[in-house]
Parts: sequence; C-alpha cells; structure tokens
Amino acid sequence: MIQQTFVIIKPEGVKRGLVGEIISRFEKKGLKIKKLAFRQISQELAKLHYSHLKDKPFFPKIIEAFTAGEVALLILEGEEAIQTVRTLIGHTDPLVAQPGTIRGDYGTVLPYNIVHASDCTTAADVEIERFFG
Ligand code: ADP
Repeated sequence: MIQQTFVIIKPEGVKRGLVGEIISRFEKKGLKIKKLAFRQISQELAKLHYSHLKDKPFFPKIIEAFTAGEVALLILEGEEAIQTVRTLIGHTDPLVAQPGTIRGDYGTVLPYNIVHASDCTTAADVEIERFFG
C-alpha cells in the first residue's frame, strides 16, 4: 500500500552535513520526497513531539538535542513507507543499530541518533499535521 511517512533529520545530522546522504538513501530505496523544509523547532513543539517520554530522566537532554539547531523535515511517500523507513533508520539506540542502517552508520550515543521517523500510520498523520499543517 502506498503510504506517506514523516522524517526529521535532527540537528546533529544537519550540523554534520548528512542531509544529502540521508535523503539519498531514502531515494535509492524508492521513496519519493513530497516535502522538505528546514526549521528551528521551538521548546514547546519539541516537548509536544516527545511528550510520551516526559517522565523519563533523559527528557531534558532529548529536548536540548532536538532544539540545538535547525532540523530538516521530510514527508516521504512510497510502498509501505512507514515500515520501510523504520527499517532503513534502524534501532533507536545507535550502539545497537546495525551497520548499514542510518542510525547504525552515523549515530553516536543516545539521544544523538540522527533521525526521527513515524512508527505507525496514526503517528504519521499526527506528525505531518503538527509540523506541516
Ligand atoms: P524512536 O525515536 O526510535 O521512535 P523513542 O520514541 O523511544 O524512539 O525515543 C525518542 C527519542 O528519544 C530517540 O530517538 C532518542 O533520541 C531519545 N531517547 C530514547 N531513549 C533514550 C535514552 N535511554 N537516553 C537518551 N535518549 C533517549
């Protein structure tokens, strides 16, 4: 099924000049870029986006990392786009993510794992509306 998904290249990815490299992996896999924008995310929007982790001790670190500079926001479209992208990015923890995945190849240590991607259709819909609506 053709789906749309939402991806964020986090500030460390933008700062390290990895935007082209990361986007090219998605394109080579057959996904189409429907939207691309650079933006500085506010503290308020960052806290909303990561609200499911608000009680974790590392929450302030996530917000700090996510607002440390501009991010690249992407809407990607293709066959089973949500699972395809989650597979391409790899495990949340870059120390566990397999080499060959984006987080496995470029991530360092949590919370610095280079990218965010929606994990289900509901999340994709909510996040596309939240960041592009
Ligand atoms: P994912 O980003 O793979 O969907 P989560 O929603 O669980 O995973 O986590 C959101 C983000 O919070 C991660 O991408 C990562 O940047 C950060 N994070 C998750 N777990 C930890 C942790 N134990 N320590 C520090 N940061 C974390």
